[in-house]
Amino acid sequence: MTVRTIGHWIDGASSESRSGRTAPVFNPATGGISAEVALADATEIDAAIASAQSAFATWSRTSIARRQGVLYAFRELLNARRGELAALITAEHGKVLSDAMGEILRGQEVVELACGFAHLTKGAFSENASTGVDVYSLKQPLGVVGIISPFNFPAMVPMWFFPIAIAAGNAVILKPSEKDPSAALWIAELWKEAGLPDGVFTVLQGDKLAVDGLLNDPRVQSISFVGSTPIAKHIYETASRNGKRVQALGGAKNHMLVLPDANLDLVADQAVNAGYGAAGERCMAISVILAVDPVADALIDKIAERIARLHIGDGAAAVEPDMGPLITAQHREKVASYVDTAEQDGARIVVDGRGLTIDGHEGGFFFGPTLIDSVPTTSPAYREEIFGPVLSVIRVPSFQEGVELINSGEFGNGTAIFTNDGGAARRFQHEVQVGMIGINVPIPVPVAYHSFGGWKQSLFGDAKAYGTHGFDFFTREKAVTARWIDPAADDRIGSGINLGFPRND
Ligand code: NAD
Repeated sequence: MTVRTIGHWIDGASSESRSGRTAPVFNPATGGISAEVALADATEIDAAIASAQSAFATWSRTSIARRQGVLYAFRELLNARRGELAALITAEHGKVLSDAMGEILRGQEVVELACGFAHLTKGAFSENASTGVDVYSLKQPLGVVGIISPFNFPAMVPMWFFPIAIAAGNAVILKPSEKDPSAALWIAELWKEAGLPDGVFTVLQGDKLAVDGLLNDPRVQSISFVGSTPIAKHIYETASRNGKRVQALGGAKNHMLVLPDANLDLVADQAVNAGYGAAGERCMAISVILAVDPVADALIDKIAERIARLHIGDGAAAVEPDMGPLITAQHREKVASYVDTAEQDGARIVVDGRGLTIDGHEGGFFFGPTLIDSVPTTSPAYREEIFGPVLSVIRVPSFQEGVELINSGEFGNGTAIFTNDGGAARRFQHEVQVGMIGINVPIPVPVAYHSFGGWKQSLFGDAKAYGTHGFDFFTREKAVTARWIDPAADDRIGSGINLGFPRND
């Protein structure tokens, strides 16, 4: 049986690949191959960059009013048709439909923020900074900008970047994950319908070859990357070495600190939502609960009760399950191996999701919600990112030891504290070495007008995603110092020769 090939989007049109290289795309709920995706070669990478560069020349000169019109049209089309996008995401990623819709809505917040870009890309003006001299600043787009995104949010993560990049006048090349490549193409068609000129939004399907092509081409001015930490590091080092502006968001290991005064029913609900939503394939998922003595046993019982009520199945089923499958069979093996390691290292497996099969979907990449008690903090199952539906509970004697454990980790993406003690929460937000903090909120993804990004090995580079950081990242400033001679002034010729450094007076 021949499967359809998912190609690129270059110069405002779908573009079949001629590279002869492809990768399979699965439906994770059945395990079947639903399509194959093209993997770009050097000729296609060059064509994508050349088209974007030529589109940039015109788009960057297009008036603010016209650019705004395109953004508003895109937002309206997304509002009307986002159900189609959610279905595509579920079919290739596996997350349940309402969760796919959730990611689109969070991405749409950035589109809406970008609709008001004129205010956020204004320069400043200082009249008479020196006598008869004005100083002002302009914010200009960078040029061709690259976005490289992970499999787990095929719509939201690209939307963290491209609405702002396009609004500011750049031309975008998006290299989506080869595991779920269709969302990007759907978005490209929507841009076309919204009136975006050809070449301003390009989709280049591919693997390391396409990524390295973007990293090494001098016509690409910046790279926005989201993915695992080893690749984020490679991206950051290579793009920086090549003189590009770069923001590279990496992996995570997010802790929830539970103080004894917290409402344990609320904590158990939120731990299950944040640990098992999207089968744990979220960079802001809670992976470790630090239970300050003596709440661990009661909390474990409450979480186990809730797990027993979860329904796992095909995310596209008419009766929506709570949780879908993992992305690939290979990833399921990796998640299982971490549970094996935890067990070998002496942890107690309270609820075991290994070996789960779903009737009628025996080939699907399902892995059941898993709860682990007392994993040693030296175990790779504690120290490394698992990226699956696996929650570990670790007992800590005090608030301070909980904070120290969080701070000893290599990642610093998100964390949460659950307590009714405002003083403790305030101390937590001050002392914890993490970029995004929730207080009785388990997944503290900031709204679009704040910025998203972690600390330590979770973010390489100075700029976070979206918010004011996004506008700063996708523009560069020019300062102009100008003197216009007053036609009525009697010193129009100037004050004569002076080789000293110019002074303001
Ligand atoms: P990944 O690092 O495997 O892939 C991300 C992107 O890099 C993909 O487009 C992929 O094609 C490309 N890539 C993969 N290997 C490459 C290589 N050797 N050279 C160049 N490019 C390469 O990540 P993933 O598995 O798709 O996504 C999951 C990871 O992303 C997790 O670690 C998760 O924590 C992280 N993530 C982080 C955030 C955040 O905001 N910090 C958000 C979402 C996901």
